[in-house]
Amino acid sequence: MGRVYLTGAGPGDIELLTLKAYRLVKEADVIVYDRLANPEILKEAKSGCEFIYVGKADSHHSLPQDEINELLYQLSLKHKKIVRLKGGDPLVFGRGGEEALYLKSRGVEFEFIPGITSAIAVPEYAGIPVTHRGVTVSFRVVTGHEAPDKKKSQIVWQNFKSDDTIIFLMGLHNLDKITKKLIEIGKSKDFPIAVISKGTTKDEKTVVGTLETIYQKAKDLPTPALIVVGEVVNLREQLNWFEE
Ligand code: SAH
Repeated sequence: MGRVYLTGAGPGDIELLTLKAYRLVKEADVIVYDRLANPEILKEAKSGCEFIYVGKADSHHSLPQDEINELLYQLSLKHKKIVRLKGGDPLVFGRGGEEALYLKSRGVEFEFIPGITSAIAVPEYAGIPVTHRGVTVSFRVVTGHEAPDKKKSQIVWQNFKSDDTIIFLMGLHNLDKITKKLIEIGKSKDFPIAVISKGTTKDEKTVVGTLETIYQKAKDLPTPALIVVGEVVNLREQLNWFEE
């Protein structure tokens, strides 16, 4: 029986892959990958390595999660090294935990290979530090997939009153609702916010605005995109190093 490596591929820039992930990609018998994992990485695989695309983008799966779980199990019966390659880190909204639990229940050995998460690296490439002395001492990474008006939301919006930097993943399609909600809980209409599209790649684009203006300015950006809310956004004026 093979072993499954639940592997983070980093946020986009292929050089942000860890050495461990790089080695596993080179050694893999089969690689099961997502839309968000940079396909350039696959060129590093050995000849004869099988590639299986399961196309998960945000939460619209081309293959349902239980089928991906089962696929990994089936592959472990046939192959020695199965690399399950995911964008960013496998456990940051990556469902790597669910896959691991399923494998465990089937008696399959697995390893987690952490990756650089887009939640930190994408703002960083845009010149926005997620923490900065004198500005903010903490940050939150939140799913933006849950609409703020959803009835049984797990998100406690009142928590966002603090000065934490807030990073929303999977939130572009809810941008309008998110900004309105933040204003509703008491944040100023002029509060700084940025949307970063295709971060860490040559197509990276960042739009900066306020809670009031950002929706009109950023709604048509291509995905993947993430949202950063906080005074740290203002540092981009001086720290924008990558897009320039
Ligand atoms: N496991 C991933 C996140 C998966 S959720 C990680 O750790 O990075 C998918 C969301 O991540 C997208 O909807 C988007 O909000 C964000 N994302 C991933 N890659 C991105 C990129 N290159 N640029 C901007 N946002 C990105």
